[in-house]
Amino acid sequence: MKVLVATEKPFAKAAVDGSRAIVEKAGHELALLEKYTDVEQFFAAVADADALIVRSDKVTADVIAHAKKLKIVVRAGAGYDNLDLAACTAAGVVAMNTPGQNSNAVAELAIGLMIYMSRNQFTPGTGRELKGKTVGIHAYGNVGRLVAMIAKNGFGMNVIAFDPFVPAEKMAADGVKAVGSIEELYAGADFLSLHIPATAETKGSIGYKLVSKMPKGACLVNTARKEVINEAELLEVLAEREDLKYVTDIAAERMAELKEKFGNRVFATPKKQGAETAEANINAGLAAANQICDFFATGNRKFQVNK
Ligand code: NAD
Repeated sequence: MKVLVATEKPFAKAAVDGSRAIVEKAGHELALLEKYTDVEQFFAAVADADALIVRSDKVTADVIAHAKKLKIVVRAGAGYDNLDLAACTAAGVVAMNTPGQNSNAVAELAIGLMIYMSRNQFTPGTGRELKGKTVGIHAYGNVGRLVAMIAKNGFGMNVIAFDPFVPAEKMAADGVKAVGSIEELYAGADFLSLHIPATAETKGSIGYKLVSKMPKGACLVNTARKEVINEAELLEVLAEREDLKYVTDIAAERMAELKEKFGNRVFATPKKQGAETAEANINAGLAAANQICDFFATGNRKFQVNK
């Protein structure tokens, strides 16, 4: 089988070398398309691929249409909103992600962003400490849980969380308080760390109604996706509440306007950096290669997302 790794933003060399070793050991072949500048190059490369590994590359219905032999596509990472799942399903292609492989990298960044904002973006002046503050975890998945653990065990923060799909007992076992409603979460959080996936339900769902409930001096921390924010309403609430801050790993569409209006109260990493560590890169790449080989060998679909 031919496994294509198509990455506009390449993996670390160790991830490519490791993936090649896994794929070849299983008797398959690895092809590489890196730093492509035109989607036509992607179309040509995928034409004879049986399996595809991507990072944030968009796997559209057009890509799927050019991939006549494709059986499986794996997004090396957690969020899979770059895959057209309906097109995959219609073409009989199994779509997977590699959950958990980059969670620690993202969690560490979320905490780093909290410190950066609490210390006024390292400009002169008096900052605040994380100790004793409350962090609200919006979605208690792989990243959310790690942020909770670092915040609680490393910084002595109180942790509250909201996730309708995770039992309160599981959070309680971690020393985390499950709150009954999303409104209660925002109302109690000095730092609100966002970890919801971008879905039809969550897109644009974080806006005035929730952010305006946050306590005085609170900070909204977004290492999830920009699409979950209602930007017009965020601008409105930041204008109304001069004490609130917004920090994000995924620059808003209206970032220039946010910076101009609110200066040091907002910050975006210059490019998405949550999963950009050598460790996460390697973990996710190798997991993708292993999942593909296992799928071809045993039919294992454990991480399928288009069921
Ligand atoms: P995960 O799948 O482990 O966890 C997602 C959690 O969201 C689950 O616990 C689920 O129950 C919960 N959830 C789903 N819908 C919800 C809703 N409507 N309300 C509340 N909770 C809901 O994913 P993860 O690894 O923790 O990653 C979370 C998100 O972070 C990803 O979807 C991705 O968009 C983003 N991410 C960003 C980066 C980055 O580089 N900044 C890297 C990895 C992931």
